Amino acid sequence: MKKILFSLFFMGFCLSLSLAQKAELSPCGSQPYKTEWLKNYQKDPSKFETRSGSTLYVPMTVHVLAGGVTDEFIFRNLCQLNADFQDTEIQFYLNYPIRRVSNGAYNSHQELELGYNMMVEYNVENTINTYVVDNPAGNCGYNLPYAGIAMNKTCMSEGDHTWAHEVGHNLSIQHPFLGWEGGVSYTGTVPHNFNNPAPDFVTYDYTLFQQTPYFDVDTLIVDTAFVERADGSNCHYAGDGFCDTDPDYIANRWFCNSDGQSNLIFTDPDGVKLQADASLIMSYADDGCAARFTEEQSAAMRANLIDEKMEYLDPNYTADPMLDPELVLNYPIDDEIVPFDGVVLDWEDIPNADFYNIEIYITNEVFPGMMFPWNSYSSQESEFTLPALDVNVQFFWEITPYEDFAFCNENVSEMNSFITSDVSSVNELDDTQVKLFPNILEAGQIIQIVLEETKDIFLDIRSMDGKQIYSYKGIGNQVSVSSQGWATGIYLAYIELEEGRTTRKIIVH
Ligand SMILES: [Zn+2]
Repeated sequence: MKKILFSLFFMGFCLSLSLAQKAELSPCGSQPYKTEWLKNYQKDPSKFETRSGSTLYVPMTVHVLAGGVTDEFIFRNLCQLNADFQDTEIQFYLNYPIRRVSNGAYNSHQELELGYNMMVEYNVENTINTYVVDNPAGNCGYNLPYAGIAMNKTCMSEGDHTWAHEVGHNLSIQHPFLGWEGGVSYTGTVPHNFNNPAPDFVTYDYTLFQQTPYFDVDTLIVDTAFVERADGSNCHYAGDGFCDTDPDYIANRWFCNSDGQSNLIFTDPDGVKLQADASLIMSYADDGCAARFTEEQSAAMRANLIDEKMEYLDPNYTADPMLDPELVLNYPIDDEIVPFDGVVLDWEDIPNADFYNIEIYITNEVFPGMMFPWNSYSSQESEFTLPALDVNVQFFWEITPYEDFAFCNENVSEMNSFITSDVSSVNELDDTQVKLFPNILEAGQIIQIVLEETKDIFLDIRSMDGKQIYSYKGIGNQVSVSSQGWATGIYLAYIELEEGRTTRKIIVH
């Protein structure tokens, strides 16, 4: 509950910041263009296999260049992406791990050409590649059909469909308003009054949008798009070429009315008044309105995967659900005192979990009782070694297991805590070098400390309030300590040999 309070406060702050930044961005930098494949497909979709009824699983490689983007942030956005694609029966699985790239020029690039260079340098073959950056050429996102997707991190959040929109482009589908990007002419200079009938066709510039890289911006390439009519007579080739997406002429960000339509009323070439459908993810309706792909769009994306991008579909991939998502933390727990460096977090393995998210929190004297995110990590193993931590700090941790194809996971472990000491783990003695037993006992039992061989040994046992209970310095391979008269509670045995030291916990009950 404490954590939730903080998160809401924090999210509210981020949301208003993100909305302000988003308003200045172009919704999508993908250039308008129908590929030869899409034109061919739309001539006769029935000729193409779609394997409807089975889920197509597509590998997604994520490269992070922007600062402040945790693995968990990406997991939450993958949850949104797969939710947006749920009805298409296309789902994305993470090609783990999330790649970290440090390159300031790529992270904030104004030119698509630089984005292309970035993708060529880092792309992982046979997967869709997404790059999370601070500035993808002034856009919320774009897709280069021959390379990959660039996403602005401020356009990634719960309820934001930009990533799904760009993946839609990656799988061949276009804006429902295809052709209107530059108004009725590709230059955007010819004014159009939407109260008047639209022309029969509009022209658009697709210089930068080729099947292969093409950055000769001195040579414009202009194409013609028929304007889609209300009566459906030209829906097979006008606009985006899909008949179940309504005519849409709006090529800039717009907000929907309460009926899920555009407030702007426009007029088709026959004089019929129209409003755009705000529910389409491929439109420029605000994210609060957009939510779906149509059946024809879904079929085209599936056909595109099966026919043109077969290399994405690994026949050996299986989506195995986790068997028991109940997660148990093993160590360190219950405020155990641990060396400040090299703390190894350990938890029970979950069968079929593909990786785990590790969240670390601290408290703060200024806001007592509140948990603050300190850092987060992910791991494929059921253990993780933390970097060096501040000493004498209480850290809280929790684990979330994930399948690589399902990220809307609410099965977070219980939170537990440990405290760092100023002892370094560099020379931490292990169980073969020093044995202490029993470590859970009743008062009066003998505690044995056994060494591998005879050595100089220093032993110091203290109660949790720091009071010394027992101390020994001498030579030998064994020390026996009586716990006669010890109060119930936890004790810490500090043991030092020439080659290192260790702190062991003793519980008297
Ligand atoms: Zn777009």
